[in-house]
Amino acid sequence: MKAMVLPEIVSLDEVDTPLQLVDLPIPEPKPDEVLIKVTACGVCHTELDEIEGRTAPPRLPIVLGHEAVGRIEKLGSGVTQPEIGQRVGVGWIYSSDGGPRENLSPHFRATGRDANGGYAEYLTVRARYSHPIPDAFTDEQAAPLLCAGSIGYRALRLTNLADGERLGLTGFGGSAHLVLQLAHHLYPASSVYVFARDQRARAFARELGAVWVGDTVEPAPELLHAIIDTTPAWKPVVEAMHNLHPGGRLVVNAIRKEDADKDYLLNLNYHEHLWMEKEIKSVANITRQDIADFLLLAAEMRITPEIETYPLEDANRALMELKHGSIKGAKVLVMP
Ligand SMILES: [Zn+2]
Repeated sequence: MKAMVLPEIVSLDEVDTPLQLVDLPIPEPKPDEVLIKVTACGVCHTELDEIEGRTAPPRLPIVLGHEAVGRIEKLGSGVTQPEIGQRVGVGWIYSSDGGPRENLSPHFRATGRDANGGYAEYLTVRARYSHPIPDAFTDEQAAPLLCAGSIGYRALRLTNLADGERLGLTGFGGSAHLVLQLAHHLYPASSVYVFARDQRARAFARELGAVWVGDTVEPAPELLHAIIDTTPAWKPVVEAMHNLHPGGRLVVNAIRKEDADKDYLLNLNYHEHLWMEKEIKSVANITRQDIADFLLLAAEMRITPEIETYPLEDANRALMELKHGSIKGAKVLVMP
């Protein structure tokens, strides 16, 4: 099978083709596992963190990718569900202990980091961590729902927002454009404010119903009750704390932050940014239940993922555009 593998940790400032196209044997499903013939796999910012070693895979080479959609090709022994031919997706959770806090468990293993992922024609995973995909979505549309959407959903729940309270989104890419639609559905009386550098992202946020868009350093016209940060940087964190309402909460939805602007944290001033019971909380990983719940909700509310597709062998280009380029929606690799 064709696969795009990461052979070594590199800096993307020096190398712009971190992944190599290789031919690998089709994996065999072990007991309780299924073999999936992948048709589409989303490209996530976390892949950049893996490539550059901020969340390094424990062994190399590895096939990246944790937003994989495909059809069940083969069942390992003991598997009764899903069935051969069924369409399923695999998200960031590859396996864990199955408990309600399995996202935080030391047994948590990530797809495309701790086990081979979806930048390939085939993928094996434990049957219980493959999710039926609702008919409302094409394979390509379903891909970003598996991480960008599901983790966005977890982040939104962690804000503790009440309907009518104001929500801010700092960064507006693959996840935030889904969270904005989700927020309108779950909190119809709440207004959404979007902070983004990129003009195209700002226009897109307006199109989707943001009441205000501006740069990260601009103060919002009103204080916000909760903000979700999906950027890799520190400046948006400090500025978001400034925009929070007393008692407000910032949820940081990023597996790792980059160090480039870490100095900006020295602008953090207790009185201005933290006083008045403001909180910062991270969102870590995802549970099986988060993905299952979100997929049903996404189908019920007819969420519209905005996607841009690339052939599998163009994964490097997709990753570099994610790092440098302007983003409208989510990037998805399609298999040959
Ligand atoms: Zn992801």
